[in-house]
Amino acid sequence: MSRIAYVNGRYVPFAEASVHIEDRGYQLGDGVYEVCEIRSGALVDERRHLTRLSRSLAALRISQPLSDKALHFVLEETVRRNRVRDGLLYLQITRGVARRDHAFPEHPVKPALVVTVRGLDRKKAEASAAAGIAIVTLPDDRWGRVDIKTIGLLPNALAKQRARDAGAKDAWLVDSEGFVTEGASANAWIVKDGLLVTRPSSNRILTGITMTVVKEIAARLQFKLEERAFSVEEARAAEEAFLTSATQTVMPVISIDGRVISSGKPGPVAKRLREEFHRTAEIGRKIV
Ligand code: PMP
Repeated sequence: MSRIAYVNGRYVPFAEASVHIEDRGYQLGDGVYEVCEIRSGALVDERRHLTRLSRSLAALRISQPLSDKALHFVLEETVRRNRVRDGLLYLQITRGVARRDHAFPEHPVKPALVVTVRGLDRKKAEASAAAGIAIVTLPDDRWGRVDIKTIGLLPNALAKQRARDAGAKDAWLVDSEGFVTEGASANAWIVKDGLLVTRPSSNRILTGITMTVVKEIAARLQFKLEERAFSVEEARAAEEAFLTSATQTVMPVISIDGRVISSGKPGPVAKRLREEFHRTAEIGRKIV
């Protein structure tokens, strides 16, 4: 099966999919994105992802290139044409193509929309969650508006590579006061004295869709939740640690900077939240 990408109004073979060299996303990182899980042939939490997308676009004063209805159609059609039942959908909107200049184009240009889909091995993902992952901590050197989901991910990419170089799967970023902000591509959580702890929404973190759903699960299961910043020391001494993202749902963390958390195995709270996740998330209609 050959992959198909949606690029500015057309469905094209993946190998031929391209954007202009003066796309402002390519030159200036001037764009936003979303990643949405595809599970059993349906989109997970599409509505919440599209709501966040609208917010990101508004923050950067980029207009939405398609109506909500048309965008919804394009997302489903891209999944359908790729016949992906378990995987990820990637959506990117940039300000569009204009002669290189930092300020916005004087005459508005049409924003550029790209949608791609790829498959994910669910068995492998479950095996990874059953084993848990190692993470390292690194200074958070990103800009002050990481609540906007922009494609400007260089600090995140460098952090992820440093994690990989250290033999870990991910990085948790730490502010100048020693508190964890979030992961390089996920939100960070610990369990301490039986309480779930995660940092509240602010411009220092991206409010994850998965995080929002996990908070709903916590309320339903009557797990107590404390929304506050936690330090690296606190995380190392926690009963459990885990991260959340659309790509990984709930992923247990079993070591931080080479030091084992608790028993060194995924904890019961993270396991339970992972099991519950797709019962609470909004699952769309079956596309494939
Ligand atoms: N924080 C960052 C920096 C991220 O890149 C992501 C994933 N895109 C998240 C948090 C988690 O967000 P979500 O649950 O919506 O995938």
